[in-house]
Amino acid sequence: MTARVLVVDDIAANVKLLEARLTAEYFDVVTALGGREAIAICERGEADIVLLDVMMPGMDGFEVCRRLKRTPATAHIPVIMVTALDQPRDRLQGLDAGADDFLTKPLDDAALLARVRSLTRLKEMTDELRSRAMASARLGIADPLVAAAAETGLNGRILLVEDRPNAVERIQSALSTFHEVEVEGDVQQAALRAAEGSFDSVIISLNLQDQDGLRLCSQLRSLERTRNLSVLLMGEAEDRARILRGLDLGAHDFLLRPIDRNELLARVRIQVRRKRFTERLRDSVQSSMEMAVRDQLTGLHNRRFMDSRLAMMFDESALRARSLAILLLDIDHFKAVNDSWGHDAGDEVLREFAVRVRACTRGIDLVARLGGEEIVVVLPDTGRAAASHVAERIRERVESEPFAIQNGTRDIRVTVSVGVAYRRAGDASSADIMKRADDALYRAKDGGRNRVIVASAA
Ligand code: GH3
Ligand code: MG
Ligand code: MG
Repeated sequence: MTARVLVVDDIAANVKLLEARLTAEYFDVVTALGGREAIAICERGEADIVLLDVMMPGMDGFEVCRRLKRTPATAHIPVIMVTALDQPRDRLQGLDAGADDFLTKPLDDAALLARVRSLTRLKEMTDELRSRAMASARLGIADPLVAAAAETGLNGRILLVEDRPNAVERIQSALSTFHEVEVEGDVQQAALRAAEGSFDSVIISLNLQDQDGLRLCSQLRSLERTRNLSVLLMGEAEDRARILRGLDLGAHDFLLRPIDRNELLARVRIQVRRKRFTERLRDSVQSSMEMAVRDQLTGLHNRRFMDSRLAMMFDESALRARSLAILLLDIDHFKAVNDSWGHDAGDEVLREFAVRVRACTRGIDLVARLGGEEIVVVLPDTGRAAASHVAERIRERVESEPFAIQNGTRDIRVTVSVGVAYRRAGDASSADIMKRADDALYRAKDGGRNRVIVASAA
C-alpha cells in the first residue's frame, strides 16, 4: 500500500522532516510551501493525500481545505490538518472546513503513520467505489458522491467497550449530546452486540480487567457482519506498542488517556462520517449493479442477465451431465388486455404474472423477463417430468385466479401458454434448447392456447 502524499507547510524545515519520515515508509512525497501551490498540485491530480499545516501566512490551512473540498475535481482527496497542541478548538474547526482527519504538533510517528495509512486505505476503496458509482451516474442514477459527502458524522450509534465506571461516565457524558451511546464491559458480549446492532463505531478500551481489547478488535475486523464498523482504540501512553498492533489489525484510530473531550468528539465524528460515507457509496454501487441486471417493471432479471447466466448454467449441466430444463411462457391474447383496459392495466397484469411465476419456482431457478409478456424460467437439475410439472403448476396458477387491475377495482381472466424443453446430449449451446422451447410454445398457441407442450424426446 503506497500513496503520493502532499506535504504543505510554510516552514521548509517542517516539510523536510515530514518528507524524510514518509519516504522512509515508502510513500511518495510531493511538497508545497503555500496554499496556492498546494491547490494547483491537487488540481493536476498529483496527490492522493494532503498533510496540511493550519498556520500559514496568506491563505491559512482552513481556507486551503475549504477550497479543495468545494472544488469537484479535488473534493475527494483526503486532507489531514496539522494543528497546534495548544489550540484544541482548531480540530473541530478543521472538521467543519471539511478536513478528513487531524494531527497535532509536535508530530508523533505512530499517529502520523496511522492516519496516513488509514486514509490511504480509505482512498483506495473510495476511488474504486467512485469509478463504479460514476458508471451508475451514467445510467441515470443521482450522483451518490454528493449524497455521501454531505454526511455530517453526527447522530452516530456508538458501542463503548469499557469496564471502568469513571471512564464510562466521562465518555458517555461527552458523546451523548451528539450520539447514541451503548456501553458493554464484556468483550464476548460486545462482539455479539456489534454483530447484531447497527452501530457506526466501536470504541474499545485496551485497559480492560482480565480481558483483551485487541482480540475484540481483530474479531470485529475479520467477521463479515462487523467488518465495515469503524474501530477506535483507547489506551494509556505506555500502551503504545499494543495500539500500533491494533492499527495493524485494522483499527481505524486511537485515543490516548487522559481523554480530551474535543479530541474525542472530533475523532468519533470522523469515524462515523467515514463509515457512513463508504456505506452509502457501497449501497449505491450495489443498487446500480442490481438495476443493470433487473427488469424495471417486474423486478425479474432482464434479458441481458439471462443470456450470460443461461450460458453458464448450460456449460455446468453439460460438464456434470446433469439435466437442465427451460420453460418459455407467453400470456395469451395479451394485446387484447392492453386494447380493452389500457396499457397500465397491462402492466398490472405483467407484475402479477411475474409474482405468480416466482411463487411456483425455487430460489436456484432463473426467472427472467425476455420482453413484452414473455418470461423464461431456467430450471437446473430438472428433467422432463419435473419440468412439465412446474409448467403445469404455473399455467394452473394463472388460470385459476383472476388478475386484479385498475388498483384492485376490477379483475380479469388471464391464461398462459408454455413451451418446455430440456437439454439433450447433442446440444452445442443453450440456443438449441431455446429453439425447441420456442417450437413447443408455438404448438401450444397453435393448439388452442392455455396449455403446456413439452418438446419431444428426440
Ligand atoms: P398471443 O396469444 O399469440 O401471445 O397474442 P398476444 O396478444 O399475447 O401477443 P402479441 O405479441 O401480439 O402482443 C403482445 C403485446 O404486449 C403487444 C405489446 O404492446 C404488449 N406489450 C409489450 N410490452 C409491454 C409492456 O411492458 N406493458 C404492456 N402493458 N404491454 C406490453
Ligand atoms: Mg402473448
Ligand atoms: Mg408475445
